Amino acid sequence: MKLDGVSFVGFGSGSPNGAAFRAFDPTLNATVEPVFISATLVDVDRAAQLAAAAAPVWAALSGAERNRFLRLVADKLVQHTAVLAARATQETAIPLARCESEIGRTAGPLRLYGEAAERGDWLDARIETAIPDRKPLPKPDHRSLMRPLGPVVVFGASNFPFAYSVAGGDTASAFAAGCPVIVKAHPAHPGTSELVGVLILQAVKECGLPEGSFSLLFDASIEIGQALLKHPLVKAVGFTGSLHGGRALADAAAARPEPIPVYAEMGSVNPVFILPGALAERAAVIGDGLHAAAMLGVGQFCTNPGLIVLQRSVPAEDFVRALTGKLTATAEGTMLTPGIRKNFAAGTAARTQQPGVKVIAQGSMAAACGAAPVWFETDAVNFQRNHTLSEEIFGPSSLVVWCKDAVEMRDVARHLEGSLTATLQAGKDETAQQGGLVAILAAKAGRLVFNGFPTGVDVSHAMVHGGPYPSTSDGGRSTSVGTRALNRWGRLVCYQNFSEELLPPELQNANPCGLRRLVNGQWTIAAM
Ligand code: NAP
Repeated sequence: MKLDGVSFVGFGSGSPNGAAFRAFDPTLNATVEPVFISATLVDVDRAAQLAAAAAPVWAALSGAERNRFLRLVADKLVQHTAVLAARATQETAIPLARCESEIGRTAGPLRLYGEAAERGDWLDARIETAIPDRKPLPKPDHRSLMRPLGPVVVFGASNFPFAYSVAGGDTASAFAAGCPVIVKAHPAHPGTSELVGVLILQAVKECGLPEGSFSLLFDASIEIGQALLKHPLVKAVGFTGSLHGGRALADAAAARPEPIPVYAEMGSVNPVFILPGALAERAAVIGDGLHAAAMLGVGQFCTNPGLIVLQRSVPAEDFVRALTGKLTATAEGTMLTPGIRKNFAAGTAARTQQPGVKVIAQGSMAAACGAAPVWFETDAVNFQRNHTLSEEIFGPSSLVVWCKDAVEMRDVARHLEGSLTATLQAGKDETAQQGGLVAILAAKAGRLVFNGFPTGVDVSHAMVHGGPYPSTSDGGRSTSVGTRALNRWGRLVCYQNFSEELLPPELQNANPCGLRRLVNGQWTIAAM
């Protein structure tokens, strides 16, 4: 597979006149061939026009047709694992084996979301039949379901070059919901993006889908992303990245003449509350698990445990001492981009200067994109006084917060901002008394983890990967992982007193799609 370095605008190529940029190899600290050409505003408009033209075709596709397309994309990704993983590891410094497994973890959701599209549960089809002789007024026939929003723009994430990039969870769920997709490729892995984009385009053509089903636009600056977001034909946005970037996009979308939803997954500190009984029972196991979770991917995971909350005691101090020993001995890793490395260095340097904060582990960082663990400690009072200590430092850095007792631990929990996850480690004898803490944490996070660690997000029907602001831009009402991710790309439409032939097939009496529907208050797959 040869790289051309130009955007895909439908079945055509983007303009050759945009600004040039190259990928970067963080391991070698050197640029990588070939040259990529940024898209232009003309490309943005053409991609949006094509997507808008394709939107009614996508809305009319059956779930089975969307499933066929998504399975084809998944199969193609898996077939091309070797070439895809090789380019991704060069562009991101993510080890080859993880790139390979991430391709499998991208194919899985494509298939799962395709099945969800075919099953159609997410449509939430509901029927209330008419009661013409109801007094004092006749009751009309009401039938409602989710309809696709239309063209969706996806911003690829730097830290998941497959699973949250061109064919990742946002793209897969938008297609499954019946929306054409325009991807703004992340400039940190343009070659990987192009390779995956070629496979999606092949699948579009092989399935006979319209030209505007998919476009992929390159840009090394924010201009193209902003133009896509502001284009009147774009109806929703999916984003994974920084709080700064996600918030800027959400604000710009809200300021459009027609505001549109932005589903941004942003910063998260993922607090881990460790109770004394848990330490008494299994301090070494918790220490090993926490170390592994915090160091995974050089700490560049949105579920990285960034805040460790403990009650001060001799065993707890021993636990932290053992953990910091392991952290200090951890080898330097290579971060995804020089920009992320720069943010990490600046964030940790700034935290070092905060009053009442002490460095407890500091590895050495020699390579240009290298990062080693930098951990801090503070007390609960200082933590609550200084808002900057609640902010995520993306990379291998966490903050230990010392509490006097269980009451102060709950105060810290109440003080937390929204997170994707919150974890509770408890001993057998203290588990039952933790209802109060769990209730506080349930108001703060989208996923609560019990006696485990927050990293590792299974893609399933029940998974929730979202949380209150600032972890997401929509108040945590949605998830970007799991089959409920499809709901983000739909809106409810109710048909009142419609004739059978004008209803979508999903709402027709015969139930030709075999959907599970709520008919007069009863879930059923029966025809009416
Ligand atoms: P980012 O700076 O938020 O960028 C993500 C994508 O959004 C890029 O394509 C970027 O384009 C675009 N973008 C950013 N700001 C924009 C704006 N105002 N208007 C239009 N487009 C915009 O994230 P990143 O480059 O991946 O990493 C930077 C930081 O993000 C990290 O240091 C970390 O703090 C955070 N991060 C968080 C997660 C997470 O899982 N929550 C994942 C990755 C990164 P350009 O690159 O062309 O500017």
